[in-house]
Amino acid sequence: MSDKIKKQCPVCESRDTTVYAHTKDLEYLTSDEVYTYHNCNSCASIFIDKFPIAKLSEIYPSNYYSFKVQKKNLALRVKEYLDKRVFKKVLAEFDKKPINILDIGGGSGWLLDIIKSIYSNVNITQVVDIDENAKQIAESNGHLFFHGPIEHFESETKFDLVLMLNLIEHISDPRGTLLQIEKMMNKGGIVLIKTPNTESLDARFFKNSYWGGLHCPRHWILFSQKSFRLTVDNTGLEVSKIKYTQGAPFWAWSVLIRMQKAGWIKITKERPVMYHPLIPLLHIFFAGFDFIRGAFGAKTSQMFIELKKNGKSDQEKL
Ligand SMILES: [Zn+2]
Repeated sequence: MSDKIKKQCPVCESRDTTVYAHTKDLEYLTSDEVYTYHNCNSCASIFIDKFPIAKLSEIYPSNYYSFKVQKKNLALRVKEYLDKRVFKKVLAEFDKKPINILDIGGGSGWLLDIIKSIYSNVNITQVVDIDENAKQIAESNGHLFFHGPIEHFESETKFDLVLMLNLIEHISDPRGTLLQIEKMMNKGGIVLIKTPNTESLDARFFKNSYWGGLHCPRHWILFSQKSFRLTVDNTGLEVSKIKYTQGAPFWAWSVLIRMQKAGWIKITKERPVMYHPLIPLLHIFFAGFDFIRGAFGAKTSQMFIELKKNGKSDQEKL
């Protein structure tokens, strides 16, 4: 491939990139369109060649898993328990002071409900989500709701805690979005981010069949630790913690797509990969697998990142 047609990395601007995969929506079968993902040999980001910005309603079908209220099976209960442990630690940093929270991609506000149950001094809770159906539940639980992508959201309220869990990989300009969020935050505020790790074992192992971390065509820019740090540079936010956490969903989706390619199982529009009966079992198995590997220092398939607002964005320094 000549240099001319090599795609430029949206994170570090390097042209030293190679094709990671050609694939289509194998999870929800929303269309037959083939998308190309490239990976940057300089910062290890993986990115889609064209952002399907105009196709949001097509690529997020009405049965999209984060839009649906899920039954609380064992895997979800364990996840909720682990989430609570993480949030207790983060919330302790606010020292019982009153806080405002913004959950981007927060759906019905279920996570805000959990946080309110463990931190008594929460003032304003705001959800931003593209799922209009979540509005009613969110508002009935006392959350403010903005229907639309984060890029369109404006707020007079300043936030102390911003949640972007499995969100930043869905947007076309992660750095621009971080700059936008930083302006809506109080000094000392915290942003919590969960996002796939391109340097994980599953990203390498399933490269030639289908890596669930691509969540094609819904994940647009995926990060390594290096590329994430580059994205945050000079935004007024600072990386205060990065740790690797289990990425059971990506393993599970990857395994099921491989089984489907081998003809062992069937994925349909009506029953996308996320609703296959093997999913809970695979989630438990791979969460355990990543948890054990993580204990030995493996860079598992998701990163959990804490950013702090230091009050020195580029604009303020000038
Ligand atoms: Zn790069």
